[in-house]
Amino acid sequence: MRTAIFKNIFLAAMSVFLVGMACTVGAIYSYFASQQTIALETEARSLAAAINSCGPDFLDSLGGDVDGVRVTWIGTDGTVLFDTEGLDGLSSHADREEVREALETGSGSASRYSDTLGQRTTNYALRLEDGTVLRVSASLYTLGTLVLNLFTPILAAVVLAMLLSFLLAARLSRQITQPLGAIDLQNPDDREVYEELRPLVRRISGQNRQIQQKVEELKVEHARQDTMRREFTANVSHELKTPLTSISGCAELIQNGLVKPEDVPRFAGTIYTEAQRLIVLVNDIIRLSRLEDQDVRQEWERIDLLALCRDTCDWLAPAAASRHVTLEVRGEALYIRGVRKVADEILGNLCDNAVKYNKPGGTVTVTVFRRQDKVAVEVRDTGIGIPQEDLDRVFERFYRVDKSHSKELGGTGLGLSIVKHGAAFLGAELEIESREGEGTAIRVLFPPEQA
Ligand code: ADP
Repeated sequence: MRTAIFKNIFLAAMSVFLVGMACTVGAIYSYFASQQTIALETEARSLAAAINSCGPDFLDSLGGDVDGVRVTWIGTDGTVLFDTEGLDGLSSHADREEVREALETGSGSASRYSDTLGQRTTNYALRLEDGTVLRVSASLYTLGTLVLNLFTPILAAVVLAMLLSFLLAARLSRQITQPLGAIDLQNPDDREVYEELRPLVRRISGQNRQIQQKVEELKVEHARQDTMRREFTANVSHELKTPLTSISGCAELIQNGLVKPEDVPRFAGTIYTEAQRLIVLVNDIIRLSRLEDQDVRQEWERIDLLALCRDTCDWLAPAAASRHVTLEVRGEALYIRGVRKVADEILGNLCDNAVKYNKPGGTVTVTVFRRQDKVAVEVRDTGIGIPQEDLDRVFERFYRVDKSHSKELGGTGLGLSIVKHGAAFLGAELEIESREGEGTAIRVLFPPEQA
């Protein structure tokens, strides 16, 4: 950046200088030109006065050039009667502009550019008392010759200007870039900067604050996740330990012959039930961790939600029948896009809970319907309901309203967590409403099929 700024300042300074110099040379040139014309006119007048008083013989006394000025005497008809450069080859001057003007009005002047000489000649003519004309001519500097003559001082000025521009550019670019480099990005307000830099400093400060805020948020989130993970590990260990202790205890008693032969089937039954509970628990943990890691390998497909609800209810029918709960599926044949296994787990867990936490003689109604552009499914039961204060927490891992009741029913405390993560995986929203003693309704709102 510094070289770019340096280059620009240097070029700007040089341009200003060159334009200034061109103007100065132009002004000098025009001043010289006007001075020369005045001098020529004075010369012509004094010569004319001399001739008028002394007669034309005075001209012969002039000899050659008068201070680089050419003097010509022209007769009334234009014939050249005298010329300081000799009369050889001189034709009539009657057509010369200044001569014509002098014959008519008494005086005349004209400037001509001579290609052959590369010079501009200024002529001044005066009519004498006898009607003849006296003309004086002198070569003026052209701009080119002036510059050529002033070459050394101009060159010196250019070199000096380059040197000054260089120093100026170096100093200015340093003054501009040094404060920039000195800004402490962590604490940009610490140092006073020049006016133009203030908005930048303010922006950096603002961004720093935002970053700081984000870092704090991330820290809090990290801590929260850390706590959740620790709690989960503690919970899992605890959940695994209970059935394992039971299995191990029963097996030990049988091994030591402390169980009467007729009691062995009962003990084996306990071992079997606890092992089943472990299998269910481990399966739920695996499902949940896969959903959390988004590690679901199945393809996304078009799913007939109503048909899926019917399948789920068919599968749950024996359990519902044994609890004297009626299962009912209603609604429109609507489709969603999703992973069948995940949708199946969501519905399975919701319907399973609706049956498990129901009352004998109760009902479970599964309804598929459209809400605005979404496809929704509602699982409503007439069961025991969930207290208001627990509504927010039932989706947490291992959270149960009544732990022993849930365990008795074979619950792992992970069902609604799987529902929550499954819904998030499919981009669906969840709604829950419940009244203690009256029943619960949970709705899953799937995004429109094309999304
Ligand atoms: P669980 O395996 O214990 O059923 P869930 O995660 O599926 O675990 O549910 C968490 C808790 O929410 C349950 O223990 C239960 O107390 C409560 N719950 C879930 N669904 C219902 C429902 N339909 N009716 C009443 N309570 C329910």
